[in-house]
Amino acid sequence: MTSSPAPVQIRLDQDHDHRLLRALAEAPRGLPMDALARSRGPGLSDRCLIVALGAGRVVGAITMDPGTGVIVGPQVARHFPQQRIGEQLIVASERVAARYGRFELQAEPRGACAKLLQSLGYQPQGARLQRRFPRRRTRFGRSIAALNEQLGLPHDYGVRHRLPLQPEPKELVAAGPDKFARPQQMTALALRAWERMRAAAALDGVELQLVSAFRSVRYQAELIQRKLDDGQAIDQILAVSAAPGYSEHHSGAALDLTTPGSAVLEEEFASTAAYAWLKQQAASYGFLESYPENNRHRISYEPWHWCHRSGQQRHI
Ligand SMILES: [Zn+2]
Repeated sequence: MTSSPAPVQIRLDQDHDHRLLRALAEAPRGLPMDALARSRGPGLSDRCLIVALGAGRVVGAITMDPGTGVIVGPQVARHFPQQRIGEQLIVASERVAARYGRFELQAEPRGACAKLLQSLGYQPQGARLQRRFPRRRTRFGRSIAALNEQLGLPHDYGVRHRLPLQPEPKELVAAGPDKFARPQQMTALALRAWERMRAAAALDGVELQLVSAFRSVRYQAELIQRKLDDGQAIDQILAVSAAPGYSEHHSGAALDLTTPGSAVLEEEFASTAAYAWLKQQAASYGFLESYPENNRHRISYEPWHWCHRSGQQRHI
């Protein structure tokens, strides 16, 4: 009782790095795996598992489903300060929800969690506890909301498509010319990973070509405006283009790829050897396919679109 508790960091696991989580959770006195598995709930598929790390172990977890706004948890390992870690996890889940443009969360009132949630302003609403937190909208979130309102895009786009805001990075680096000799930019981390992946593919006789990397919010807004001016319907536009602020290309970590002989940005890329190679190998370079067939974002199948995840869980 006399030793002061180790500082706890709250991290968002957006990288599906379950091996790390498992190793951390199985460490002595960390959160037991079954509790962690329970805590994942539906939010896991949306990469909205938030973990508390203390002394190098998972000591708490909560998941948030951006589609429904339901949080599951928090669960906190015994021997760690329940109230404090639980509070931090709930506040972190509100911040993550705000990235999707969601400013209201709900939870099942269960045991000790119910008291904790009520102490943070969650109030009974039917069978659940609920809280609204409109003030958690960030400056970037406000500017995107205004821009998309101007374009006539749905205000709940992020929630509907389970897509978080994608702020532009502070720094981008030149990534050389793309297939069409246009200069491209990406983050330094994504560039390193892309160069390694392209070289490895070449060794296996597969040529990967870059079609597009970083695209700004402004570019995306102009693209949508052009399509609107051409008379396309909003639903039709949003089936193939993300709303400004929500495209992974804003992050500088998403790449559109092709290979010689394949039409660019067409589904036929899925039948190439390059795509088969990516399916097998891309993950080991940190690249994940963001919009597979029938994806939960209701974005059309984009076998060419791969996004680099740094492998470092984001601090929130
Ligand atoms: Zn793309």
